[in-house]
Amino acid sequence: MQIMQTPTEANKTGEPKAPLILEIKGNSLDDGPGIRTVIFFKGCPLTCSWCHNPEGKSAAQEIAFDPEQCIDCERCLPVCKRGALEPNNPYFVNRDVCNLCFDCIETCPTGALSRVGKHMEVDAVAAAIEEDMPFFRISGGGVTLSGGEPLLFMDYVSLLLEKLKKIGVHTLIETCGYFSFKEFNIKILPWIKTIYFDLKLFDAIEHKEHCGVDNSLILENFEKLRRAQARSGIELLVRIPLIPGITATDENLSRIAAFLRKNESSRVALLEYNPLWMEKSRKIGRENAIALNGSITAWMKAAEVERCHEIFEGFEIV
Ligand code: SF4
Ligand code: SF4
Repeated sequence: MQIMQTPTEANKTGEPKAPLILEIKGNSLDDGPGIRTVIFFKGCPLTCSWCHNPEGKSAAQEIAFDPEQCIDCERCLPVCKRGALEPNNPYFVNRDVCNLCFDCIETCPTGALSRVGKHMEVDAVAAAIEEDMPFFRISGGGVTLSGGEPLLFMDYVSLLLEKLKKIGVHTLIETCGYFSFKEFNIKILPWIKTIYFDLKLFDAIEHKEHCGVDNSLILENFEKLRRAQARSGIELLVRIPLIPGITATDENLSRIAAFLRKNESSRVALLEYNPLWMEKSRKIGRENAIALNGSITAWMKAAEVERCHEIFEGFEIV
């Protein structure tokens, strides 16, 4: 099976090529134990139609436009030599014409136009994290690698995790599970404390339809991780995004529950659907079929969530 990888050539200092970082977000209480700093990587091998971080899907830089921030000053219009800024275009930027020179961003006084993704060397990320060490100490927190998919950048992440382990920082990776286990075993497992492992759709055809890839590698990797848990002492938590009509169906959740029972895995997080991703998607000029048909623009009802929880009776739901 071919796994999408980004180039791994080293830079001048011999370090792995720096991937794009979307954001380093401090003071998070939602991405693992204690107060955490979350590093969002840009790029993912999956293309989930409901992705909550659509700006993390592509591993390339993008331009974003936020209409809420725009004051219609039109300072940016003459700056764009390609005529890619179109006031009557609902996305404002014509991405078929834009060559990502980012000249317009410099002139925008409000930040309505912005660059999505910034290359950062490992040392720069580690330095940014070190400032948050006091918060980790008082709260039992640490660093969470999220995305996108951090394991798309295995060499870089390995180096970062090694540095963090040496300075005593608790580390956690949120992964879609689509990676080479052989590489993961050597480069990641020695340095990581906790893995949040996403399972979305159990049926292989539905997984391919909604997430762009077959799920056999993901299920295999989960089974290998369960076996590795005893020797490595890592904490493993399965997370299931509840997407109405797609993943949050009785059949899908029952099949995932049976798979977890077979693997003697009894802790899950059920992530309630959050429709706010659609707004983020529009900012980078993308609409999505499930947004356009309007079928899942609302938050889940309490009864729907309760029904999903019932399927995992006997599990510890966190
Ligand atoms: S990034 Fe460059 S090409 Fe694209 S809209 Fe801005 S100025 Fe024009
Ligand atoms: S410069 Fe910024 S605020 Fe002014 S029109 Fe362009 S995008 Fe809007």
